[in-house]
Amino acid sequence: MRIDNFQCSKAVSVFPGKVILKANTAAFMVIQNTYWSDNARDIEPACFIQPKTTQDVSKIVAHLTTPDNIECRFAIKSGGHTFWAGAANLQGGITMDLSKLNQIDIAADKKIAKIGPGNRWGAVFEAVEKEGMAVAGGRMSSVGVGGLLTGGGLSFFQPFGGFSCDGILNHEVVLANGSIVNANRNENPDLHRALKGGGNNFGIVTRFDLHMFPKPKLWGGIFLAMDQRKKALDWLVEGSISNNDTNTMVAVSMLTPTTTLSLAVDPDVNRQPVLMEKANEMAVITNRSMAGWFGTAVVNSTAVGRPSRIGISGIPTSIYTTMKAFFSSLKDGPNTLTTAATNSSSLPGMQLQPGKFYALTSPAGIAGILGSAAETGFRLHFFSWNIKVSKTATAPYLEALTDLHKSEGAKLPLFSNPSIFFQPITSRMRHAGEAIGGPNAMGLKELLGDDDLILVAVGVRYWFKSDGDKVVKWAKEFTKMGKNMAEEKGVGSPWQYVNYSDGWQDAMGTYGKEAREFLKGISRRYDPRGTFQKQVPGGFKLGM
Ligand SMILES: Cc1cc2nc3c(=O)[nH]c(=O)nc-3n(C[C@H](O)[C@H](O)[C@H](O)COP(=O)(O)OP(=O)(O)OC[C@H]3O[C@@H](n4cnc5c(N)ncnc54)[C@H](O)[C@@H]3O)c2cc1C
Repeated sequence: MRIDNFQCSKAVSVFPGKVILKANTAAFMVIQNTYWSDNARDIEPACFIQPKTTQDVSKIVAHLTTPDNIECRFAIKSGGHTFWAGAANLQGGITMDLSKLNQIDIAADKKIAKIGPGNRWGAVFEAVEKEGMAVAGGRMSSVGVGGLLTGGGLSFFQPFGGFSCDGILNHEVVLANGSIVNANRNENPDLHRALKGGGNNFGIVTRFDLHMFPKPKLWGGIFLAMDQRKKALDWLVEGSISNNDTNTMVAVSMLTPTTTLSLAVDPDVNRQPVLMEKANEMAVITNRSMAGWFGTAVVNSTAVGRPSRIGISGIPTSIYTTMKAFFSSLKDGPNTLTTAATNSSSLPGMQLQPGKFYALTSPAGIAGILGSAAETGFRLHFFSWNIKVSKTATAPYLEALTDLHKSEGAKLPLFSNPSIFFQPITSRMRHAGEAIGGPNAMGLKELLGDDDLILVAVGVRYWFKSDGDKVVKWAKEFTKMGKNMAEEKGVGSPWQYVNYSDGWQDAMGTYGKEAREFLKGISRRYDPRGTFQKQVPGGFKLGM
């Protein structure tokens, strides 16, 4: 702590105007409050340092890695959306905040968008859409670019685009010695591969050059319905088999509050909790295809003393065929939203609210709608594992797991909100990504072959710092139970997705053996002193 305070004071004179000390409370708190979860905000560095250019990053890294600064630890932050504490921040250390590296340059031929890591996906989508184009990025507007792309990236376009990182054509990187290099298929191709899912282990990415493609029209929003768990899970499994549908992405999420009283974030006053009662079971089903993308929620909740923003309705009996037909029948045009709202009466119980819940829109539009639902103001542990898709065993596993989640959730501290979220990671998606960008860091071909997977992500939202250890203990036990059950039912899978893993999960340790050895070799070659293993302790490390 003493060393890092001293380093911060020293940095003020070396980098005038770029260091924000904790003592400068207002400016410091502006950055501190950009961390998404309250547990990430619990960590406070001695100072933030804000580079404005790649050259600034280079000078800062060179400064922090000189022999007399070798004891100094630092963190790298882009959007600060990592759920867990300490991935992109460092208690008492120096945190490099990349938010000023927010350039978005679109090449004249509209093939490449050059994007700074400090951007949020909402801004990126809006900029590329002005040119009639799209890129594969995060599904909520506020999510940061740097962390999503160095960790992988699940997107609206994954069925045909792979992981978002597969669409990176070039990385501009600052290495541990402060040098600035490009990494692409021709220059430093091994570093290029390592940065696609290898996290912050090799350098600081100062620019991502992304593959652009013509902007598709998407239907999106939030649809609310009740008690359709079995159908939703059958539908999920159907949509998770590579050969079933070439362009559909289905995801199902269930919020299963186990207490009769729970807390939610006030819809009108950000970061202020309100009391909810009778919150039962909620499932969010999302579908994205060339014809449509929609979300469905099963919920029964009322905010005490104020109108709930969550409505109640039912979904059609034959959810998959009816909704698919409905979305396919919608036409683009000026009156589409009105038509859609009118047509919704033909679907019993379907609630369409133009502009708010549903819109024929674009990635920016949907990311905005979904982003507005991603409140902050609570602590969260979010952890995951994957299971194999089998036509017969997967749906019963997910049913049993959801029941287990509900019964085990009752053991969580009062006012916790557990949720469980399933989404496909098909072999078709992985092949598509490799066809665009070549191999990435995860080594999934070697590890998984052609297995279709469903990612199981569990979130526990909680309110009091003192409950953190209990929640982590619960998370570890529940993960063990969930994985054991998967093995028993023959659907276990070894790999974990970095961006949906909690800090206690050794996410990179689950990559394929060849991939792990490859990544260690790249670290030794490009960072021989191990700066990004030792001086940058945050994030998932290579275990060297
Ligand atoms: C509301 C919400 C929605 C989400 N939606 C999605 C989604 O649709 N798809 C998906 O895949 N994930 C999603 N995520 C997870 C998200 O991908 C990760 O949290 C990701 O790390 C966020 O990126 P960030 O820039 O905000 O990360 P940060 O928290 O700033 O950083 C994450 C990690 O990356 C490192 N890092 C950041 N920038 C750089 C850089 N330039 N160079 C080297 N290392 C760097 C940091 O050191 C840190 O270890 C979501 C998260 C939230 C909270």
